[in-house]
Amino acid sequence: MRTARTSGGLFRRALALLLGAALFPALAAGCRRGPDSVRETVFAMDTVMTLTLYAGSQEQARQAMDGAVAEIRAVEGLCAPEDRDSQLYALNHGDGAWVEVPGLQDLLERSLELCRATGGALDVTAYPAVKAWGFFSGEYRVPSQAELAQLAGRIGYEALELSGSRARLPQGMEADLGAVAKGYAGDLLREGLEEAGISSALLDLGQSTIVAMGSKPGGAPWRIALQDPAGGGYLGVLELEDCALGTSGGYQRYFERDGQRYWHILDPDTAAPARSGLASVTVAAPEGILCDGLSTALFVMGLERGVQFWRERTAGLEFEAVFVTDGGELYVTAGLEDSFSLAEGFEDREVTVIRE
Ligand code: AMP
Ligand code: MG
Repeated sequence: MRTARTSGGLFRRALALLLGAALFPALAAGCRRGPDSVRETVFAMDTVMTLTLYAGSQEQARQAMDGAVAEIRAVEGLCAPEDRDSQLYALNHGDGAWVEVPGLQDLLERSLELCRATGGALDVTAYPAVKAWGFFSGEYRVPSQAELAQLAGRIGYEALELSGSRARLPQGMEADLGAVAKGYAGDLLREGLEEAGISSALLDLGQSTIVAMGSKPGGAPWRIALQDPAGGGYLGVLELEDCALGTSGGYQRYFERDGQRYWHILDPDTAAPARSGLASVTVAAPEGILCDGLSTALFVMGLERGVQFWRERTAGLEFEAVFVTDGGELYVTAGLEDSFSLAEGFEDREVTVIRE
């Protein structure tokens, strides 16, 4: 289907466009909109999502939008870890027993595939540690080394069992789909919108997760800005069509204690914020779940392991990436070379293209 490789140059251009819009909704907002477009902002999954749809008529766009918002609410309802009615809550409170989670079956299967593929850099059972740091409640704290060691012992996706629509977790372990659910939701939205006859849309799922359908009305690629992890502006733009993008960065959610910054992406081995030398990673791929899951995983892996992972990527895991290091160095994989450009004010920044 929609792999980076199969889509070739079109994919790359789409990716670039998408990236700009995803990271900078304001840019997307700046797109010319005809009378047949509808835009809606939704607060869901702890973030602000902005959906922009272009259709043959206002009525078609409106109806498609209603379906898309309902889909977002449905995914949110399945994955909210502290919502007693969610299937994720049921799984996390199953006390080691099998729990029926039909709505999560596909998402859990896909997520576990990515956990395995990334060697556990992505680990959907990090939730006890996410909570201990206060990243769910907002009541931030720094756990002691002893507590971290104990928390790390409770992380391990291999222990999450799936059997058809049932799943189970050992007592004391809890899953968190925060690293993949927005991208997954974007994929579902795209499918639903395609069925509704929409071929041009920019789905900004928040926190730099974007699904760009088709191109802009008129045929130009989407322009998606990449945020500078070191500041408020954006350092580059990707021009893309029919592509998803996901960015993970320490700047997106963090707190500071005693001059040290602690962010929300944790190294499953230590249960502490991943300090890999990267400030952000953007992944472009045909599917949102891949972008979302891999950007989190690559942030944990760091540049060297991440580049190796890109070079070894297999069919079904094809993606391109932009790495920004703590020092502000930029690394762009070869598939994005033509679609990436530096933003104004960053023109003298050196960009290293990573080749096969
Ligand atoms: P993202 O913003 O997509 O990079 O996902 C980060 C979110 O996923 C965090 O807010 C946590 O809820 C969760 N998380 C943190 N570290 C990991 C990890 N290594 N693997 C999976 N989920 C994680
Ligand atoms: Mg993610």
